[in-house]
Amino acid sequence: MKLFKQISSLRQHLAAERQKGKQIGFVPTMGALHKGHLSLISSSRAQNDLTVCSIFVNPTQFNSSEDLSKYPRTIENDIKLLIESGCNILFHPEVNEMYSSVEETRVADYGLLTSSLEGQFRLGHFDGVITIVKKLFDVIEPDNAYFGQKDYQQAALIGAFIQRNSLKIKLHICPTLRDSDGLALSSRNVRLSPDDRKDAVSIPQLLFMIKENYPNNSITVLKAKALDYLSKVPSLTLEYFEIADSQTLEPLKEKHESGSAIALIAAWCGNVRLIDNLLLS
Ligand code: AMP
Repeated sequence: MKLFKQISSLRQHLAAERQKGKQIGFVPTMGALHKGHLSLISSSRAQNDLTVCSIFVNPTQFNSSEDLSKYPRTIENDIKLLIESGCNILFHPEVNEMYSSVEETRVADYGLLTSSLEGQFRLGHFDGVITIVKKLFDVIEPDNAYFGQKDYQQAALIGAFIQRNSLKIKLHICPTLRDSDGLALSSRNVRLSPDDRKDAVSIPQLLFMIKENYPNNSITVLKAKALDYLSKVPSLTLEYFEIADSQTLEPLKEKHESGSAIALIAAWCGNVRLIDNLLLS
């Protein structure tokens, strides 16, 4: 695996590879890699000649300096995992390679995709996401880009960004990998205390319960069931639970016949913020 820290040398290398007709798959990450990330690498490897993974803890998408400073950084282990997974190129830039000091974050306005749910609770988060993803897409110019369903709203937003800017990048949204008890794998899980880790399983269990009840219950009843379930798990502090149209993320008042529905949740477990989602139909 080749490691690049500079934009210019990576660009040069990829231009030469592209000239040879190589198709490029791209997996952007913030590191502290786990099997979820590696499943994205594996999908990219199956569909491309070259797989580029980026590891960059993007400061502009954190709305809490504590969350940024506590974000796990495990670069040596990440490099080992990437080599084992057969990744071809790692792009691991310093902050000043991606941001000049005077630069401002792009403001991203994609309606509900940026203003609701994560956008409502993490102000400016998606501005930072779009800013860095645009920069990374500009440098790497991938044919295919791989994002996880785990961050569903982010993946939907990237789809809208690609479409709005007529980019020639095909977006692949890959399934969420979970621990055996159902908890979605996340770099933040290592920060859960043993007790919080046990309580965190209520998040996927709630989603599975809602999915099971979806065919025979109205949205109002499903939401009441969710709140009732959460009231019995005092160790979780809910930010949002929503059942929404999976394309627009518009909250559903009633089930619709045509589109598909998704349940999305964000909750604090101890001092760790967890998100998860499940397609219902
Ligand atoms: P992150 O490093 O958390 O920014 O994640 C990088 C990419 O990996 C994003 O596209 C995530 O959605 C994806 N990802 C994170 N966790 C999982 C998971 N459990 N299963 C599949 N993909 C994931």
